[in-house]
Amino acid sequence: METVTAAATLHEGCEAARARAASVAFVPTMGYFHEGHLSLVRRARAEHDFVVVSVFVNPLQFGPSEDLERYPRDAERDARLAEEEKVDLLFVPTMEEMYPVWPPRITVDPGPLGALFEGASRPGYFRGVLTVVARLFDLVGPSSAYFGEKDAQQLFLIREMVRELAFPVGIVACPTVREEDGLAMSSRNAYLDPERRRAALCLHSALSAAEEMYAAGERRTKPIREEMARRVASEPLATIDYATVVDETSFDEPDTLGGPGRALVAARLGSTRLIDNVRLG
Ligand code: AMP
Repeated sequence: METVTAAATLHEGCEAARARAASVAFVPTMGYFHEGHLSLVRRARAEHDFVVVSVFVNPLQFGPSEDLERYPRDAERDARLAEEEKVDLLFVPTMEEMYPVWPPRITVDPGPLGALFEGASRPGYFRGVLTVVARLFDLVGPSSAYFGEKDAQQLFLIREMVRELAFPVGIVACPTVREEDGLAMSSRNAYLDPERRRAALCLHSALSAAEEMYAAGERRTKPIREEMARRVASEPLATIDYATVVDETSFDEPDTLGGPGRALVAARLGSTRLIDNVRLG
């Protein structure tokens, strides 16, 4: 495995792979790897010749009061795990390599959905995500890029960006990897003390309720939303941010689900903000 920090070196490495007729897969991350990240890497490894992984804690997607400084990092462990998964190229850029101009004047506007749900709680978040992903796609030129369903709104917006800006890249969605008790794996779980770690299960409980109601035939979204909110509210250490049901294909919030939906939940456990979601249908 080669580790590179310069954008030009990354670009050359990917060009050289394509010149050998290798197919290029890409997995963008913010590092501090867990099994969720590794599941994306394994899928990319199984499906392509040349696997590129990036680790970059992107300041553009953090608000001023968010956890940019304390976001967990372990560059050595990430490199060791990437090597074990037979990654070909690990890109660990500096700020200057990613943002020749800081703050950037030219960014990707996520459109109206960028201001809802995650975007409502985190203004500028999706602008930051789409801008860095667009820049990385441009440097790597992958035929496929791998993203987790854990971040469903992010995945949706990346698909929209790829379609609207006509990036020649296939987006592959990978299922959410969970701890044994159902908590979705996240680098931010490292912030949780034992009490809040236990309390964090209320997100999973809310989503399980949504799944059960859907399985029992409920298609009206209001009762599902209300039950999810109740489940989170029943946990004194949790503060709900949102609990909703969207149409899987539009991310609209219908009164009644006509096709597949997605139940989304976000809550704070002390200063740690967690999100999770599940497909309905
Ligand atoms: P992050 O490092 O949190 O930006 O995540 C990098 C990629 O890993 C994104 O596509 C995430 O959706 C994905 N990811 C994060 N957590 C999980 C998980 N528990 N299961 C599957 N994919 C995940």
